[in-house]
Amino acid sequence: MNDDAMLRAKLDRAKARKAAKHPRRPGENCRAAPGTWVVRVDRARCEGKNDCVEVCPYDVFEVRRMDDQDFAALGFLARLKSRAHGRLTAYTPRVDQCHACGLCVVACPEKAIVLERVGG
Ligand code: SF4
Ligand code: SF4
Repeated sequence: MNDDAMLRAKLDRAKARKAAKHPRRPGENCRAAPGTWVVRVDRARCEGKNDCVEVCPYDVFEVRRMDDQDFAALGFLARLKSRAHGRLTAYTPRVDQCHACGLCVVACPEKAIVLERVGG
């Protein structure tokens, strides 16, 4: 499978369409230049549910086991919660590709993602 086919296999178009209609979708409607916005994931909230992976058109996210350093930085209750979810969490290895569509922010069931303009 090439990269495009792999991305298409991950995407859930129905979920992305629903997120696109959300009245509070932040960002620039996918028109931002890459590198001008970033997404941040709150690890105390994220439960590794994968919705961000399924809606991001630019393959920014990867859900995997939380790094030890990030796990150690969580509070006691957040560590318990994370363990209950197999320590899965979302990382953003391709955040430089984000076009600020805002779909991940409104699709995340845990409200764990914020989208921020770089430098402001
Ligand atoms: S950030 Fe939200 S949508 Fe992404 S894996 Fe975590 S809980 Fe799921
Ligand atoms: S805002 Fe960025 S990270 Fe989120 S779905 Fe859109 S392109 Fe992907």
